[in-house]
Amino acid sequence: LVSNEWKKDPTIVKVKDVEIGGDRLVVAAGPCAVEDEEQVLTVAKAAKRAGAKLLRGGALKPRTSPYSFQGLGERGLEILRKVGDQVGLPVVSEIMDTRQIDMFKKYADMLQIGARNGQNFDLLKEAGKSGMPVLLKRGLGNTVDEWLLAAEYLLLEGNGNVVLCERGIRTFEKATRFTMDIGGMIAAKLQTHLPICADPSHPAGKRELVHSLALAAVAAGADMLLIEVHPNPEKALSDSEQQLTPDSFELLMNRIRALANVL
Ligand code: PEP
Ligand code: MN
Repeated sequence: LVSNEWKKDPTIVKVKDVEIGGDRLVVAAGPCAVEDEEQVLTVAKAAKRAGAKLLRGGALKPRTSPYSFQGLGERGLEILRKVGDQVGLPVVSEIMDTRQIDMFKKYADMLQIGARNGQNFDLLKEAGKSGMPVLLKRGLGNTVDEWLLAAEYLLLEGNGNVVLCERGIRTFEKATRFTMDIGGMIAAKLQTHLPICADPSHPAGKRELVHSLALAAVAAGADMLLIEVHPNPEKALSDSEQQLTPDSFELLMNRIRALANVL
């Protein structure tokens, strides 16, 4: 079902009034993790002003260490909903478990399935059944075929509102946090009618690399970008080294506009 031999016309995924997969690039921005209302509001206003169309933020964080900040949980989703409505940006946030579907229906406009759940087949089935738009990240160690088959689970449940997100894969290379697979992203785009997103923040791991990776993904034909932005990245409770300041995000948006039509 994900193949463009099965469905020839490109799929346009609607998240409220935002259309992903048309001829204009859609940018989602926001903090790695929701920390408090003021933090999210500051970023959301800056993101909106710079031209972002979706607000991202993690309320439930899949952290490598159980001692790291795990997210605010439902309170984080409440903050996202409130700020999203206030600023006028639909909200995308990561769901970690099938038991959270009702909670996400209440607060979010788009479900994010993270890299660590890229092959959590029960979660994929439930997200498919929910009918909500889904941003499906590529699993850390998944091939393009495995990533597309993960999306197939969603479509098989009758949910065609799926955006695929390349976020870097695990390789031997240590100069970056993950290896952003632009070639794999293009290979996926050539095989599917689904829109493709690129997340340059997680493969970069360092702020200095985010602009170039974002621009590379846009040049390669990404339909959407997912960018981490924090009002004070040094103080962030997660991913502090890769989050952009609002000023740097605005500069990036201007650089992107020189390359592509932004929604
Ligand atoms: C995120 O976007 O906040 C995130 C945890 O990403 P990933 O699943 O790609 O690591
Ligand atoms: Mn993050």
